[in-house]
Amino acid sequence: MQHLVDTEDLSDIQLANIIRDAKAFKRQLPPPLLQNRLLITLFFENSTRTRSSFEIAGKRLGATVVHLDPTKSSTKKGETLGDTFDTLSAMGADGIIIRHEFNSVPRKLADKNSTTVINAGAGNYAHPTQALLDYFTLLEIFGDLKGKRIAIVGDIVSSRVASSAIRLFERVGMDITLVAPEPFMPNNSLRKCEKLDDELLDNVDIIMSLRAQLERHKAPIFEDYDEYAKEYCITKERLKDRNIIVLHPGPVMRNIDISDEMLEDQRCKVLEQVKNGVFIRMAILKALLLDS
Ligand code: ASP
Repeated sequence: MQHLVDTEDLSDIQLANIIRDAKAFKRQLPPPLLQNRLLITLFFENSTRTRSSFEIAGKRLGATVVHLDPTKSSTKKGETLGDTFDTLSAMGADGIIIRHEFNSVPRKLADKNSTTVINAGAGNYAHPTQALLDYFTLLEIFGDLKGKRIAIVGDIVSSRVASSAIRLFERVGMDITLVAPEPFMPNNSLRKCEKLDDELLDNVDIIMSLRAQLERHKAPIFEDYDEYAKEYCITKERLKDRNIIVLHPGPVMRNIDISDEMLEDQRCKVLEQVKNGVFIRMAILKALLLDS
């Protein structure tokens, strides 16, 4: 049984096949490959893009997609997460798509091997489908990503998007620089820079901007967002006419992460990422439920 807890669960061949299928699905929608399959989405944290994207992806492939709202489920009556999961598996779920605040939850559930587990975001550990859709979006633009220079900017330490992206981007040979104020910087061996200055911007092909996830920090980090935005907001004044692609996983905090003006700029691919998210998730569902 194949799971997707992080992209490391995918072989190089599977990775290539997912990209190939996403590309094909974007050109032309496939027949209902997952007819008679049952998918359940179980989101213990808020979501706009990921949940709807998975539900659309599943439905476009002909699957039945059921959403269980944990705030109205028996977890609120004291049932353990493991028991809720077993209950859904017993109903014949072919895949459970889960988001949870704890890093370890998707792997623990996957280890039961009762149904395919797809991680839709776990703590600050992993968000593999976001990494894959970002990878797909960049491949469409650049063709080959080996040696492409990416600056990941913002609240990196809190970001499961950054964690998964870093692992996947290193795997495909990209050159990564982390740009953040000290409290937002993780402890790892990657190149780090505290300032988003001209020298850095002259030497990158891509910026991945991230949301300041203040809900994940115990102690307040900034007095206000203006202080942060002055240094890290992606604006036209900062980028000038440099040919830099701008990504953001959403939700974007306008004029804090990226300026209004920059969000309208051709270099900014936020909505293309969202669009590609559906195709990549269709390809992932096919890879996990049909091909393995
Ligand atoms: N949507 C992304 C996530 O679930 C990023 C964010 O919330 O800022 O991790």
